Amino acid sequence: MIRSLGVVGAGTMGAGIAQIALQAGLPVYLYDLAEGALQTAQVRIEGGLARLVAKGRLTPADRTAALARLTLTSDLRALAAADLIIEAAPEQLQLKRDLFKQLDEFCPPGTILATNTSALPVTELAAATGRPDRFVGLHFFNPVPLMALVEVVQGARTSAETMALAEEFARRIGKSPVRAKDTPGFIVNRVARPFPGEALRLVGEGVATPVQVDRIARLAAGFRMGPFELMDLVGMDVNYAVNRSVWEQFFGEPRFRPHPLQAQMVQAGLLGRKTGRGWYRYEGDQQIDGPASPQYAESPAPRPLGLERVWVQGSALMAGGLTQPERPDPTGRLFEGQSPAGLKSHCPRRLPFDWIEAVGAAGYYLVGQSSEAQVVLLTDPHELTAAHGWTGLAPGALLLWDGSACDESFLAPHVPLDRSLSFAGLPPLGERRLVELGLTLTTKPEAAEQAAQFLHSLGRETEIIQATPGLVALRLIACLANEAAWALQEGVADAASIDTAMQQGVNYPHGPLAWADRLGPDRILATLEALQRFTGDDRYRPAPLLRRVVASSGTFWRG
Ligand code: NAD
Repeated sequence: MIRSLGVVGAGTMGAGIAQIALQAGLPVYLYDLAEGALQTAQVRIEGGLARLVAKGRLTPADRTAALARLTLTSDLRALAAADLIIEAAPEQLQLKRDLFKQLDEFCPPGTILATNTSALPVTELAAATGRPDRFVGLHFFNPVPLMALVEVVQGARTSAETMALAEEFARRIGKSPVRAKDTPGFIVNRVARPFPGEALRLVGEGVATPVQVDRIARLAAGFRMGPFELMDLVGMDVNYAVNRSVWEQFFGEPRFRPHPLQAQMVQAGLLGRKTGRGWYRYEGDQQIDGPASPQYAESPAPRPLGLERVWVQGSALMAGGLTQPERPDPTGRLFEGQSPAGLKSHCPRRLPFDWIEAVGAAGYYLVGQSSEAQVVLLTDPHELTAAHGWTGLAPGALLLWDGSACDESFLAPHVPLDRSLSFAGLPPLGERRLVELGLTLTTKPEAAEQAAQFLHSLGRETEIIQATPGLVALRLIACLANEAAWALQEGVADAASIDTAMQQGVNYPHGPLAWADRLGPDRILATLEALQRFTGDDRYRPAPLLRRVVASSGTFWRG
């Protein structure tokens, strides 16, 4: 059992770790070589505890007792009195190795040594000591007092007893520990790499602007913050350093390859909030440009003139082979004798049903053959068959096609593309306020305008970008799910730990594996295969485990 704590480095992380251990009743020895850092840490800890008192979550007497348990020291040897020492010094391998070598020399043999490193190998740090069995990674998240997650990282020689003690300690100080094997980036700093990584590629390829990517990430996928806002918060220098470190430790694996834009932002000193400018501009704590908060219309826009008849691919199938157009009535019945719930039970996938529901509710006529329609919605562009009601396009019809696993080179031989756009096929549509629309190289501006009006009449916001498989939201999610699948397959952690870590460590709306299960592992696989084909880049090659899950019609969580 851990009864006292030593902390090396009194910066952002060290001060936070010291504070929560003091709150939990442990004596804490906090070391830093910079005198000023110790003073700053003391002010920080006092401020943190005072805020808890103000909120009524700590009594003034407990605060006084907590502060009395704190020893600030500029003598590293003072830490020999602690049962566990957590190092939170700068992220430099040699500096950390030197510190651990010294600690190992004078600490009693039973003392457990731990590192808060973000991405350096725990095993390599442990090798600087004569006690690699009593050496562990304890990776906290910033701000420490608020973030529940701690990754407990098992080095190649960390003992089971040390893992158990470290986990028990994390729980005792009020955190939720997840176990991770010592692999580059552990769980969070590895699985989260595609979030900034794909965002940078989307901008680099000219698919979308940073503002568009951030808006889509928030409104279409439900992330709390877009990837560019997040890079500005974390700091481009930190983001780039962690990215490089993980990439180098994987010996140049293309999934982790940094992007030239990252290097350029660092070279230009555009580091984000801390320098007042990164992808966006800041004055003090205020962001003064970037994605505006969404202003939703009170009610859907009117239907655009001249667009009345809509064909949704799959609708004939779902309505039990019904091919005659029927006007949807205001009670929500879309076809004679069919309620939306009845239709849903025929629906092999949610997506066509979602569209039928939205199109019906906006008062459009649903027609049974594509050639009768003014708007054609292809929910499965790879299946253009007469059996599904495909009879070609009427002249001047607007064509919207699901771009989740398709690019314009597939459609070009079959249909004219100048009045066509791809849309993001991320179900369920009902939860989404924003639908992405992707321009082909030849889409006419008036077709794009009409497509946006059509979606506005369904009560949706739009973002018009360039067509790419998955567009923005699904490309981000597919790459995150793929990385989680690689990590699961490599035994970094179990599915529950991976998903918990991503939700608690970086606030994702869903764990990436549960997200893949919800969207369909087959859809994630199809998006990745389309991206690999379209870009020729092996960073999109699907994890073998993802293929196996799809082949067995299984899910990550159940099987
Ligand atoms: P920081 O710069 O805020 O603090 C580092 C402290 O270490 C400073 O007070 C510095 O004076 C002190 N220091 C420098 N050399 C030292 C030495 N030889 N011995 C003892 N102290 C020394 O850094 P931070 O953000 O707190 O990061 C610390 C560690 O935690 C790094 O390994 C970092 O990768 C990791 N980490 C950081 C975050 C984060 O978001 N900041 C999150 C998780 C992990």
